[in-house]
Amino acid sequence: MLRIDMHTHIIPEKLPRFAEKFGYGDFIHLDHHRPGRANMMKGGQFFREICSNCWDPQERIEEYAQYHTQAQVVCTIPVMFSYWAKPQDCLELSRFLNDHIAQLAAEYPRHYIGLGTLPMQDTGLAIKELQRCREIGLVGIQIGSNINDRNLSEPEFFPIFEACQELGMALFVHPWEMMGFDSMRKYWLPWLVGMPAETSRAICSMIFGGVFERLPGLRTCFAHAGGAFLPTIGRIEHGYNCRPDLVAVDNAVNPRYYLGKFWVDCITHDARLLQYVLETAGEGRVCLGSDYPFPLGDLEIGAFIEAMGLPECTLERIYSANTLEWLGLEKESFM
Ligand SMILES: [Zn+2]
Repeated sequence: MLRIDMHTHIIPEKLPRFAEKFGYGDFIHLDHHRPGRANMMKGGQFFREICSNCWDPQERIEEYAQYHTQAQVVCTIPVMFSYWAKPQDCLELSRFLNDHIAQLAAEYPRHYIGLGTLPMQDTGLAIKELQRCREIGLVGIQIGSNINDRNLSEPEFFPIFEACQELGMALFVHPWEMMGFDSMRKYWLPWLVGMPAETSRAICSMIFGGVFERLPGLRTCFAHAGGAFLPTIGRIEHGYNCRPDLVAVDNAVNPRYYLGKFWVDCITHDARLLQYVLETAGEGRVCLGSDYPFPLGDLEIGAFIEAMGLPECTLERIYSANTLEWLGLEKESFM
């Protein structure tokens, strides 16, 4: 059975020193301090250590083979988004990352599928780069759950979503720049508490802002099974019902109506929650994802799903059919 992991991150082995080049900012650079290891440095500060499976395409393919997974949808690491930078500089960085991923997808068409990144802080430049992403063979883009703390319902993002729909480019929304980061650094809380909240923030913003309502052909997938959104849909719907004056100001439609309209990955680390996600988001909207190669990911690539005893047809949907539909791709391209 074809298996595609639709949530994985990759970075070029060599990054230009963008901070030196542009003369400002905490652009990420890599310090290859020993073979197979690099420190991601944010400005002068250590951010995270990564291993060669973060950049080596062959090593990744071999590691995936152990988990019977043939293809990986690759996108950059959210800390690379750099929406805070000057738009033109973010565009240059985005182009560098997008060209790297496009080249990888062209070299290994059965193993890699590419998503791009955009300078979301500038609507015009973002749309231009979106068009270029399509031309170089990327099938969608990854964006953050907020853009410089602005929600995805803000009007400046709508033309970008509209262009995605028009060009048939898939959208992947990933949590980052977590709300409350500074007030809860201890215990890894930004990742454990902030990330699921960020993703719910993104979904609610797109629903209540009327993005899905106005763009029914926009194919959007949210990371980490939609974060806190699906488990709290009852509360969100109740809020819509009891305080429409606060909630339904831009879109009159019940939020529950949008269940089944967007995709989510399966990264729950919990079979019972995944069962609920399948029932809530719909069996046709849940995709195999891992967050490889990071430790908070499901690095056995869906082993917990195998143990659930799901019917073959459901597994086929999760492992490939739903992802192919989200990305607008055909199974035959991977056979
Ligand atoms: Zn991720």
